[in-house]
Amino acid sequence: MSPLASVDSGFRPAPRLRSIGVSEILRIGAIATRLKREGRPVIVLGAGEPDFDTPDHAKAAAEQAIRAGQTKYTVLDGTAELKAAIAGKFSRENGLNYAADEITAGAGAKQIIHNAFMATLSAGDEVILAAPYWTSYADMVLIADGTPINVTCREENGFRLDAGDLEAAITPRTRWLLLNSPSNPTGAAYSEAQLRPILEVLKRHPHVWLISDDIYEHLIYDGLPFVTPARLEPGLKNRTLTVNGVSKAYAMTGWRLGYGGGPKELIAAMAVVQSQSTTNPSSISQAAAIAALSGPQDFLIERRIAFQRRRDIVVDGLNAINGISCRRPEGAFYVFASCAGLIGRHTADGSVIDSDAAFCRYLLERHNVAVVPGSCFGLAPYIRLSYAASEANLIEAIGRISAAAMELS
Ligand code: PLP
Repeated sequence: MSPLASVDSGFRPAPRLRSIGVSEILRIGAIATRLKREGRPVIVLGAGEPDFDTPDHAKAAAEQAIRAGQTKYTVLDGTAELKAAIAGKFSRENGLNYAADEITAGAGAKQIIHNAFMATLSAGDEVILAAPYWTSYADMVLIADGTPINVTCREENGFRLDAGDLEAAITPRTRWLLLNSPSNPTGAAYSEAQLRPILEVLKRHPHVWLISDDIYEHLIYDGLPFVTPARLEPGLKNRTLTVNGVSKAYAMTGWRLGYGGGPKELIAAMAVVQSQSTTNPSSISQAAAIAALSGPQDFLIERRIAFQRRRDIVVDGLNAINGISCRRPEGAFYVFASCAGLIGRHTADGSVIDSDAAFCRYLLERHNVAVVPGSCFGLAPYIRLSYAASEANLIEAIGRISAAAMELS
C-alpha cells in the first residue's frame, strides 16, 4: 500500500505516487523547524536557497508592475518582454541564440523540467540521471511515467559522469540524459575538456536528448569558466533543453520563475502541458525577472566571492574531522562529504551509526545541526551540507559536527 493511502478514509492515491514521497530534505527541514520552535539552537545547513536577498531593482520592478496593473493572465509561457530578456541573457552569457518560440518560462526551473518530461515521456521511457543528483529529478521522471536510470558518478572522478558509463547505460528506450553543472548535491562542475567526451557519446546516439540544468551557473569558483553543452557542441542544440532560472543566481527562490531554451517543437509541447496545469508564471514575478536578467550583474561577483570563502571554511573544517572527508567542489553552495569513516561507530547511548541517515539523525537530535543524508541523492554514505548560511553559523556548525564525531566510539 502507498504510504499516502488511508484505510480509514478510503483515500486511494494514484498508482503513479506509489514510489514518490515528500522530499526527505523537506522532512528534515520540518523536524529542524519543530526543534527550533521548542527552543533548541539548531543550525540548519539543509537549505537549497541563497541566504542573500532579492536585488532591490527586481523588487522595484515588481512593485511597479503591480501599480501599472500588470496583474492579469499573461501570454502562456512568458510575455514577449520576458522572452526578450531571456534571449538576451542566453546570448550575452552563454553565446546561445534562441528565438521567442524556442524559449519558455514557468514557475521555476522545476516546472520547466516537469513540463519537458510530461511532454515527452511514455511509460517505460528511460531518463539517465547522473547520481548523486537533485532528489526531485527521479520523482519528476516517475510522475511522468518514465523510468529513472541512475549512473553513479564516483568521487574519484570528481563526482562527474564518466562517458563510458553513460554509453553503457544508453538503451533504445533512453529519451533523455539530465546533466546538472555545477551540481546539487556535489558542487561538481564540468570544464570543456570534461564535458566533451559526454557530448561525443550523445552525438553517437541521436535518439537521446539532453537537459542541461544550468541553475547554479553563476555560482562557480576559482575562476573556472561556466560551460553549457549546446554552446560547446552546437550540433546538439536541436536536441538540448537548456534550463535556468532566477532562483539561485538572484536569490529569488520564492518568486518561482524559471526558463528554458530548446527546439521549438519541444517548447510548444511543453507549453501545452503548462496550459493545463498552472498557465502563465506570475505576472509580477515575470516583471521582477526581466529586471534581474537585464539589470546590473556586478553584485553576482561579490556573492560568488562570499560563497567561495564559505566553501573553503566548510571544506577545510570537515577535512580536519576524523572520519569525514570531502573534495573541494567547483560550484553551487553544497559540500558532499563522505562519512564512511564513522559508519559502525557507536553513540554515547550505545546506538550504532549504521548509515548516513543515522548519522544525520544523530547530528540533529544530539548536536543541533541539520544536514541531509547522501542516500537522499542516490549515493551513500555521505552528508550534504548547504553553505548558504553565515560564516559564524558555518564555523559553529563545523565545531558541533567535529564534537559529534569525536563523541562516537
Ligand atoms: N535544479 C536544481 C539542481 C536545484 O537544486 C533546484 C532547487 O533546489 C532547482 C533546479 C529548482 O529551481 P527553481 O527554484 O527554479 O524551481
